[in-house]
Amino acid sequence: MDLDERDVAGLIARAAANPPRTMSVEEMELLLSVEDPVLLKELFDAAYAVKLRECGRGVALRGLVEAGNCCAKDCYYCGIRKSNAKASRYMLDEDEIVGCAEQASRFGYGSLVIQSGEIESEAHTRSIERILARIAPLGLGVTLSLGEQEESVYRRWREAGATRYLLRIETSSPRLYSTLHPAECSWARRVECLRAIKRCGYQLGTGVMCALPGQTMADLARDIAFYAEVDADMIGMGPYIPHPDTPLAAKAPRMADEERLLLGLKMIAVTRLYLHDVNIAASTALQALAHDGRERGILAGANVIMPNVTDTKWRRSYTLYDGKPCLDENAKMCQGCLERRVASIGEHLLYGQLGDSRHFVRCHVDSMA
Ligand code: SAM
Repeated sequence: MDLDERDVAGLIARAAANPPRTMSVEEMELLLSVEDPVLLKELFDAAYAVKLRECGRGVALRGLVEAGNCCAKDCYYCGIRKSNAKASRYMLDEDEIVGCAEQASRFGYGSLVIQSGEIESEAHTRSIERILARIAPLGLGVTLSLGEQEESVYRRWREAGATRYLLRIETSSPRLYSTLHPAECSWARRVECLRAIKRCGYQLGTGVMCALPGQTMADLARDIAFYAEVDADMIGMGPYIPHPDTPLAAKAPRMADEERLLLGLKMIAVTRLYLHDVNIAASTALQALAHDGRERGILAGANVIMPNVTDTKWRRSYTLYDGKPCLDENAKMCQGCLERRVASIGEHLLYGQLGDSRHFVRCHVDSMA
């Protein structure tokens, strides 16, 4: 692609000033391909300005509970895939998960994410219902990230108090998806799950991994268009980082950490410039690639950070990729470290706030008007 610097600078300025969702897929591909340092800075600065305009100064918080690594899926990239015999399996009990939620609340985190490997069973559904009922009095915003489920299950969890659901599509390309998953994993079912989550009234979160083997810039640009197609309210995405005990690691392109990180930052920036008012997380994978990865994510347009509130003794077992950060730190240390890091970029942590997606609130208010 022929990159004319003036065209790119003009495109960045227009994307920030125009209404959301006005860039074409080709234009987003052009922005994702930027390598010139001056243009890259313009891209990140423009996306950060849109973050300030739409979400204000401040970083929303979600305490992350890694509730268990037992998983029925065998995704080729994931360290907790069911065939990884080296993963030591655990599942927090209900008291432990409620304890994490109470800890998050004591820290002033207004919101919680409960994530685990994928389990579809009535016993699991009921257990999550009981946990949701027990943490409801804490008044936290609760995001679930528990994978693909039947619509009736999403509905039960919504009625039990969860307000947000995060299910990454991983890639919007069915062809690429089929190279990352065994045949029994259906891209179409995942999309149907996203639609079901939306129908149940959740704030919908989705996202992809970038820097995947076989992925093109055009794929990534279409991923961002996909977020709009499913009307996502929250985006959680990040660079793919190989895990040595997974089949995909051998096929992973050799890429320097900084290169993977840069692609993750560009995805954040272009997503912010395209969607404007959604919540975008600066994922832990960014921090795995550079100690200041999450702060750089904020400066590229993200507005959410998810400090880990899981007991330190379980963190090593929830290893999705190589180099997971903060393995030996407890939740209090994570909070202190985060405060200093976020202050260093002139931002602050938003304590005691639910941090609802502005996009969701706007659509909801509009639909009631
Ligand atoms: N089971 C749930 C689901 O499928 O949504 C949530 C748990 S799953 C482990 C959470 C996310 O981890 C996935 O959506 C995937 O994008 C990410 N992930 C897994 N392996 C990864 C890797 N090697 N590098 C980066 N992200 C990875």
